[in-house]
Amino acid sequence: MTDASETKAKAGAAIIPVTLFQQNCMLLWCEATRRAVVIDPGGDVPQIQAAIAQANVTVEKIWLTHGHIDHVGGAAELRDALKVPIEGPHPADKFLLDHVVESGANYGMTGVRNFAPDRWLDEGEQVHIGELTFDIFHCPGHSPGSVVFFSKEMRFAHVGDVLFNGSVGRTDLPGGSHATLIASITDKLLPLGDDVQFICGHGPGSTIGHERQTNPFLNGAM
Ligand SMILES: [Zn+2]
Ligand SMILES: [Zn+2]
Repeated sequence: MTDASETKAKAGAAIIPVTLFQQNCMLLWCEATRRAVVIDPGGDVPQIQAAIAQANVTVEKIWLTHGHIDHVGGAAELRDALKVPIEGPHPADKFLLDHVVESGANYGMTGVRNFAPDRWLDEGEQVHIGELTFDIFHCPGHSPGSVVFFSKEMRFAHVGDVLFNGSVGRTDLPGGSHATLIASITDKLLPLGDDVQFICGHGPGSTIGHERQTNPFLNGAM
């Protein structure tokens, strides 16, 4: 067995696009223990629960990359249903979690609730699911409290809405800053290594190397 296939076998994952924003809710699990985390349950909780049942894994945590409605709209409902803690985002996004109901009303999303996570996350902390460990990077700019989850062992990151395949996060929402966002990507994500694969909050994932070379926001084209 090669190193690559051993690494792949450590985790399994399913992407469940949710809400009218087609946000990439991710079900991620440790293959050794079948313990799982739901990352960014933005809504459509019955679909997320169906994916959990299909994967036949035990969800023990909910992780949030940031406080925008399309990422957190289903978090309180899923926490109640599964009786598991919510970890993340960074406390700088508290103002968003305090106004989930108002944000939802702007997009016709009913049944959402304001909430506080069970654990806020900050730069340098770690989170765990089964035998998997992820390092936390605080990457403000898209929202002030955006965090990135990085598995050094699997060379994999979940970057939320910080970085996209061919683009970067929008910065016109409250607390956004394009200069801060580019600094977060340049200082914290690019150094992770060109080989690192990532998934993001919307659309297809990519690798750090591909974005470093071709993303117009990062290679000087824009
Ligand atoms: Zn967002
Ligand atoms: Zn989003």
